[in-house]
Amino acid sequence: MFKNSTFKGVTFFLDIKRIRIRKNLNKFQFNNNKMSGIYREVSNLAPKVKIDSNNNVTESDGCGENENLNRNVKLLKSLNIQKTNQKNYNLSEKSIRVENDNLNSEWNIDSSEFAKSTCNPVRKLIEQMKIEPNPELQMIALSIGDPTVFSDIAKPDSVIKAIQKCIDDKKFDGYTPSYGTEAARQAVARYYSRPDNLIYKFNDIILTNGCSQAIDLCITVLANRGDNIIIPKPGFSIYKTLAGTLGINVKYYSLLEENNWEIDLEELESQIDDRTKAIIVNNPSNPCGSVYSRMHLLDIINLAERYRLPIIADEVYGDMVFPGNEFYYMSELTRNVPILSCNALSKRFILPGWRFGWVAIHDPKNYLARVRAGFNDLTTRILGPNSLVQASVVEILDNTPQSYFDSIMETLATNAEIVYEKLQTLPGIVPRKPSGAMYLMVGLDMKCFPDIPTDVEFVQMLIKEKSVFCLPAKIFECPNYIRIVITMKKEKIIEACNRIEEFVLAHYKPNS
Ligand SMILES: *Cc1c(COP(=O)(O)O)cnc(C)c1O
Repeated sequence: MFKNSTFKGVTFFLDIKRIRIRKNLNKFQFNNNKMSGIYREVSNLAPKVKIDSNNNVTESDGCGENENLNRNVKLLKSLNIQKTNQKNYNLSEKSIRVENDNLNSEWNIDSSEFAKSTCNPVRKLIEQMKIEPNPELQMIALSIGDPTVFSDIAKPDSVIKAIQKCIDDKKFDGYTPSYGTEAARQAVARYYSRPDNLIYKFNDIILTNGCSQAIDLCITVLANRGDNIIIPKPGFSIYKTLAGTLGINVKYYSLLEENNWEIDLEELESQIDDRTKAIIVNNPSNPCGSVYSRMHLLDIINLAERYRLPIIADEVYGDMVFPGNEFYYMSELTRNVPILSCNALSKRFILPGWRFGWVAIHDPKNYLARVRAGFNDLTTRILGPNSLVQASVVEILDNTPQSYFDSIMETLATNAEIVYEKLQTLPGIVPRKPSGAMYLMVGLDMKCFPDIPTDVEFVQMLIKEKSVFCLPAKIFECPNYIRIVITMKKEKIIEACNRIEEFVLAHYKPNS
């Protein structure tokens, strides 16, 4: 009893001491930033550090934490456009959480290796970039692949009414089967089928939280740690993010700019090895805006067939092609190769925040029986997408008027034309004409801009001088390009092009 109380007394004493030391150091900190190392040890304040699995504190780097992050978040929060659409500038909550970590706590609660190994290259690069717009000019963000931002296309009444009705009915508030309700899966199957050559049944459809989760399920169900999938370059960065966390390697095939960004099939073939589990094809393409011909799609399918590989078709921009182009689902073109088509309401219906997507399993020869069971198992991790959206999707997919899609594609085609025509006249930059989706790639002839070292700097300087924000295509594994989003209002696009022109003319030096 005596021992015990002494022990408690000592602990109490030490605690008081610790609080005193902390208080004194707090004061000291104001005078001497260099003390921050010690300060971190005894304070609750935010260190800009990374903590490894042995609780060693190291300098921040790479994905997640970054010196510029706080500044970028603050800055973006202060921008006018921030008010229009806050969510797009909410950069990295993960980093913010680390910044607020209570390092001094006796509660040693760390994030898992799984979480730490998750790295989104887009976020990473934006965190590292200097985003300091010209205070004289309102920022124009041509960087965000969210079609709801700045777009002047109104949602059709039918969509609003459909979800309102499902709320009012009060019948759709419960759990659904984890792979989705039969009615919603029927609706997707109807939407996807092409009467002459492609019939889906409802049990071929698995409903997901957006196209990202559809892709996640496909990768997860097909590959083990140490296996690989082959993905496009330039290409959407989420494939790498998703595979990376799972310990699945990515290999790249190139898209050939000079062939309208068609796949370099020889290179694709050379990347296949005995641990390859799938090929991802993204058509129409983000970031290229390209749309593959029937012939090219057949060539890809033939290659996959020779190596007995399933194709994960990211067709989230399916049917989003400009007049004069034709879109084919890969599943329309084969009866042999299993195709997992991933899609969503996000882009074509302009409802990315609704988080509704699906995998459509095309497998006439029934090679995927075990994979189907795997899909069902995997969906039980999340228990399916939002029930209200599932209920309303029947009406949305069946009855959204074609005129809605037509007006979206008309707007995008017009915007693409404006940007292309304008940028084409400028020296040192080479815009690529898109055929669909909502992006335009612009090649930079860096030799012509001797004062700008890389595409990332090009983008940073363009923000600093002209407050126009494009994405450096380094993010898409395609350096010396920038990607321009063409979803915003025409006047904004024209204004942005004029500013890009001023910027280019100010920095262009004809090379000798
Ligand atoms: C936007 C996008 C996605 C993700 O779509 P969500 O439905 O929002 O998850 C997937 N693939 C590509 C190529 C995209 O551009």
